[in-house]
Amino acid sequence: MRVNITLECTECGEQNYITTKNRQTNDERLEMKKYCPRERKMTLHRETKK
Ligand SMILES: [Zn+2]
Repeated sequence: MRVNITLECTECGEQNYITTKNRQTNDERLEMKKYCPRERKMTLHRETKK
């Protein structure tokens, strides 16, 4: 049971990545360091609220 989620840059709000997660094993909002092409640097990306 995997759900699609969108990862959004916490600094500029750009939605840069789409991934999936297992809601049963990972119920918290995902956060991970990713490259933001808009800012051209690594920033923290967070799962958007659905
Ligand atoms: Zn950004």
